[in-house]
Amino acid sequence: MIGSFTFENLPCRVVFGSGTLASAKAEVERLGGKRALVLTTPQQEAQSKSLGAALGSVYAGLFSGATMHTPVEVTERALAAMKACEADCVVSLGGGSTTGLGKALALRTGVNQLCIPTTYAGSEMTPIVGQTENGLKTTVRDAAVLPETVIYDVELTLTLPASLAATSGINAIAHAAEALYARDANPVTSLMAEEGIRALARALPAIAARSDDREARTEALYGAWLCGVCLGTVGMALHHKLCHTLGGTFDLPHAETHTIVLPHALAYNAPAVPDAMARISRAIGAADASQGLYDLAKRLGAKLALRDIGMPESGIGKAADLAVTNPYWNPRPLERAAIRDLIARAWAGERPAAIKAVT
Ligand code: NAD
Repeated sequence: MIGSFTFENLPCRVVFGSGTLASAKAEVERLGGKRALVLTTPQQEAQSKSLGAALGSVYAGLFSGATMHTPVEVTERALAAMKACEADCVVSLGGGSTTGLGKALALRTGVNQLCIPTTYAGSEMTPIVGQTENGLKTTVRDAAVLPETVIYDVELTLTLPASLAATSGINAIAHAAEALYARDANPVTSLMAEEGIRALARALPAIAARSDDREARTEALYGAWLCGVCLGTVGMALHHKLCHTLGGTFDLPHAETHTIVLPHALAYNAPAVPDAMARISRAIGAADASQGLYDLAKRLGAKLALRDIGMPESGIGKAADLAVTNPYWNPRPLERAAIRDLIARAWAGERPAAIKAVT
């Protein structure tokens, strides 16, 4: 049954396909840009050279210092680079870290952003930026940081190693899974969520089997876009809060943390949201959402235990404490003992707790 809901479409133009990098110059000009500063990481300088060539006369310069967690010192260096080349817009090419730098610059200067994502993190579809200052990560939600235009080019994702594609893809699935039970869930976002999960669950094993499978890479990027829209459109809950806390407190890698925690967070919430779980199960083709996602991560060869990505056992209690302080909305009330149990399972790499049948 469809109840009442509010749905707000975020104003962002999307160009999707293979070889779409070639439209970068036209897209910059469409935004009124004349001098574009390209942002990327040192690892992706080669790709950004192709972007420079595609930008032609609107290419103003390159800043390849983007790094994880958007430290303000890096943003300040990028601001100086913008000034030095008199840039009037930025083009970010890379994963969530590079997109974050573009957003941080837009927040400070109001410049237009053309974003060219090369992972499945989904940041390009959200008006949210996380920034780090003196070791503290804070999050800002501001319409000014939403990129004006996004170019998805499948070709650029072919170099994303299969292991990163796996965890980044499950990171995307996490956005859609929580969107299905969000407090402000709505039928349109839920359609995108289910379709995004379906596309990724089908594509990721194919990429793991053959990393240059273009059809699978296309389907994965399409799914990632849909999941990114979910993240930008509705509120997240326990899973995202846990990953934010674990990542920030123990300096754990973003996508891998999401991959490990997701089955456990869903197992915790499952009794409260059987309809959402049924939709996730259907999308991944499994009898149970959390068990199915655990099996998917295992099949993709992803790490399954927080202890294997650097979390100390002594941190389990602290993480549980942090997860229940500053309460936030979640479909199932936050119970410290049960949350501690789920973190302990995720730490050890155990299967998610079996769900009691909901009557
Ligand atoms: P990332 O951007 O840190 O990229 C990981 C590494 O992969 C980098 O070295 C990068 O250069 C490399 N890489 C990326 N694409 C590649 C490709 N196609 N080929 C070869 N190498 C490639 O990782 P991520 O998981 O995309 O982003 C994580 C960050 O994004 C976190 O800081 C997270 O908080 C943030 N994020 C923010 C939002 C938001 O809405 N604000 C959403 C999701 C993620």
